[in-house]
Amino acid sequence: MPELPEVEARRRAIESAFKAGTLTSFDIDKKGIVKHENERVQKHIIGETLLSVDRRGKYLIFEFPDALKITLHFGLFGEMEIAGREEKLPSVCARFVFDDKRALFVLKWASIWFGMGVEDLEKLGPDPLAEPERFTLKYLVSSLSKKRTKIKQFLMDQAVIAGIGAVYADEILFQSGVLPTRSAHDLSGAEASRLYDAVQKTLKSAVKKTVAAGREDRSFLSLEGRENCLVCGTKIVNTRLAGRRTLYCPSCQN
Ligand SMILES: [Zn+2]
Repeated sequence: MPELPEVEARRRAIESAFKAGTLTSFDIDKKGIVKHENERVQKHIIGETLLSVDRRGKYLIFEFPDALKITLHFGLFGEMEIAGREEKLPSVCARFVFDDKRALFVLKWASIWFGMGVEDLEKLGPDPLAEPERFTLKYLVSSLSKKRTKIKQFLMDQAVIAGIGAVYADEILFQSGVLPTRSAHDLSGAEASRLYDAVQKTLKSAVKKTVAAGREDRSFLSLEGRENCLVCGTKIVNTRLAGRRTLYCPSCQN
């Protein structure tokens, strides 16, 4: 599943390709992916200029004049491609054509909302990179104290922090030296502070590396795809926690 760094890299690619461009047409091949229809938006958005693409957690919000919006979530398998409008790509579920030349292709399964219909956006916790003023150490410490869930689940809870999924939760916990099975409310002040730094540093550096790679590449992560811990050489534990694959180093994390 694309997580915050990958969605942010996609946001930058879309903005750099289409910002200030005019949306000339769109078609959606699989009706099921439209989660909210709004006639006014669908009718009036054609011919409008793309002002910006914002991101909240794993959602992308395309902003047009007069508060016209399209919101996109890539779900588990959604991908995208920027190509010539006539390009034939496999598994296209939506195509947004800009300036009559190039198009944003949304591939596989994604969700699209026209207008303001994304209730989930209102329930999202702070995005550590897009909303640093909301994602403070004080906020994290207070949220930790209220939750008895395992710390990995806590990090993946979009209502607490927006944008982190299973893979980046593992990386952040490795960087903090905290086991994924610990209870959120049990973390010490020092651990909470390490966790706070790790959330920001890990996501920031992952955005940089993903953008630089020009494709989705997780080879720089400490646990993903590795047998042994990079730091101490101990065999990495590969288990399941709350139904999600979970990796950790039993020696560096406690
Ligand atoms: Zn280790």
